[in-house]
Amino acid sequence: MKKNKIAEIIPAIKIPYSQSQVYTYSIPSSLEGMIKVGRLVEIPFRRREIKGVVKKINSSDQKKSVQNLNIKLKAILGLDGSEVVLSKTQIELAEFIAEYYHTPLSLVVKTILPPITKNAPRKKIEFSFPKEVSASLKKHRVPNSKIKKLAPKIFKNQKSLLLHSLTAARHQIYLELIKNTVSKNRQTILLLPDFFDLQQFAGFYIKKLGEKNVAVLCSEATNAQFYQEWQKINTGKAKLIIGSRMAIFAPVKKLGLIIMDDEHNSNYKQWDQNPRYHAREIALKLTELANSKIVLSSPNPTIESIYKIKFKISLSQKEKMPKIVDMRQERQKRNFSIFSDALKDSLIEQINRKKQIILFVPRLGFHTFTLCQDCGYIAECRQCRSALTSRQDGSLICYRCNLPTKMLAKCPACQGARIKSFGIGTQKVKEEIKNIFTSAKHQIKICCLDSETIKNKKSQYKTYGDFIDGKIDILIGAQMVLKNWNLDNLGLIGIVNMESLLRSSDFRSQEKSFQILKQTSLQSQNNAEIIIQAYRPQNKVLQAVLSRDLNKFYQQELVGRKISFGLNYPPFSQIIKLIYQNKNARLSEQNAKKMYWALKRKAAEINAGQFEIMEPFPAFSYQVRGRFRWHIIIKSISKNIYLRDKLLEAVDKYWIIDVDPENLS
Ligand SMILES: [Zn+2]
Ligand SMILES: [Zn+2]
Repeated sequence: MKKNKIAEIIPAIKIPYSQSQVYTYSIPSSLEGMIKVGRLVEIPFRRREIKGVVKKINSSDQKKSVQNLNIKLKAILGLDGSEVVLSKTQIELAEFIAEYYHTPLSLVVKTILPPITKNAPRKKIEFSFPKEVSASLKKHRVPNSKIKKLAPKIFKNQKSLLLHSLTAARHQIYLELIKNTVSKNRQTILLLPDFFDLQQFAGFYIKKLGEKNVAVLCSEATNAQFYQEWQKINTGKAKLIIGSRMAIFAPVKKLGLIIMDDEHNSNYKQWDQNPRYHAREIALKLTELANSKIVLSSPNPTIESIYKIKFKISLSQKEKMPKIVDMRQERQKRNFSIFSDALKDSLIEQINRKKQIILFVPRLGFHTFTLCQDCGYIAECRQCRSALTSRQDGSLICYRCNLPTKMLAKCPACQGARIKSFGIGTQKVKEEIKNIFTSAKHQIKICCLDSETIKNKKSQYKTYGDFIDGKIDILIGAQMVLKNWNLDNLGLIGIVNMESLLRSSDFRSQEKSFQILKQTSLQSQNNAEIIIQAYRPQNKVLQAVLSRDLNKFYQQELVGRKISFGLNYPPFSQIIKLIYQNKNARLSEQNAKKMYWALKRKAAEINAGQFEIMEPFPAFSYQVRGRFRWHIIIKSISKNIYLRDKLLEAVDKYWIIDVDPENLS
């Protein structure tokens, strides 16, 4: 008797986590032989017709239980016209992501599938090879003989490696590794942290390897552009896939190598929608599934990578010592400006030499807090009680709630009138700079690059471009100003107030501060001067940067994560952040507290020693689009996913679950 075949199918739409993610369909005889694992097919699903991916094909007698129950299976309607097929590796990877990130498999599959379209792209995404980048690559060239010696060493026996490198020269090494992989007839995925880096470097690889051999995947592409590049990979034509984090889902058939540039960059984490994945975690899994190799590259690798990857290679790098200015001595000299004499002199000198300047200021606004000088009252947000930032016009704002308030005429506590604002924000620095360069001969262009002035990625990249083109003289801002600039015309980088960098209480704050200081000091490769203003120059993070003993810092930090501040932070545990938001502030708080107690009870049921659950607290961005946000942090000490999922059974569908969050706030 002829056996009917049946297929297990993952629908490519978002199905809630609590519901089944895989459904069984019969294969009609007309389609027999055409249905393959990974094939995109059309299926009836809850009175709709949708697409799904074939996960497995069985003979119906293997599924006796189904027959015994006498359930009439629905039949697959047909093949999807696009001929898209996910590889076995991609399906395995999707299952891993769904499990690891506690997120629906159907949604992961939907994320991995390309945007299918019949339209040809109206134009190609062009990647030029900017002349500044080309010049920088030439300037920092590593001798060919050295690369030829280094490349085979990199992959002698080990499958994974950390590459400490910073100059643009690292791209020469990547290129050598890619060529080596091509010669073995295998493909490479090169991940870059953002679109700006793609604009800088994709052109280099296209020029070296030929356009037909390179595919670029990024969210800035139109659907038609993306799909065309995707097909180029799917057909095996592309030898190199360059892209931002989602390029890790490229349909490579013969993966040989993954290179992750600037692996410490937080852009690799998708934090704003599910699946909230980190490209590094997925890349490591993919190399295991595809039996390929991986290079994680960074001038300041993350603690997690240092812990996981044992083999390291460092490229020697020229680095000038930063100049540390003790601000207490400035005050003793009766210099009460926000700039030390050294920083001020250097600002003037660099501008006179027509050099460019970057000033790193971690805080937004003008002054960062407002105080009554009579009774010590600090102006706080009526909603979340955090200190209000003052703006240039004197009005106050809470950046956590985005809630503006009028300026205070008198103190609400003592009715006194001696109200004053303190602390240094980006706007304040900009004003002070203007005060220095008042004369007509200094026609300088200053730009603030912070989340208040830069509203989207597009304007962020435009500002980067303007700075590179020399249209901006002084760039002021927080995190966004720190990049691997490779700028020959950069004369100075200053950190105006190091202490505000160290203020955060997050478990990653030491590491992040270290990365910022390190990245700043690395810019000296182009002979830029580095000036760091500090009230506590003996600070251990700053000292670690100055000593250049990376290993010592990492060892200290690992010990810190293991035994200090509350015990067992990653990599010695897994952190899960639960996020709740509601338009009603009180309800939001109440529900967060209810959930906390439900989790405590559940943890006690499973094994209380396995978990540490922190009391709920309002998120750092407390009010987002009219909703009030609360967080609960769970530490899973054993990192056991089965136990973690048992605990998460207590969490209802209104909560967002973020596994391995970038921060706790
Ligand atoms: Zn007062
Ligand atoms: Zn607030």
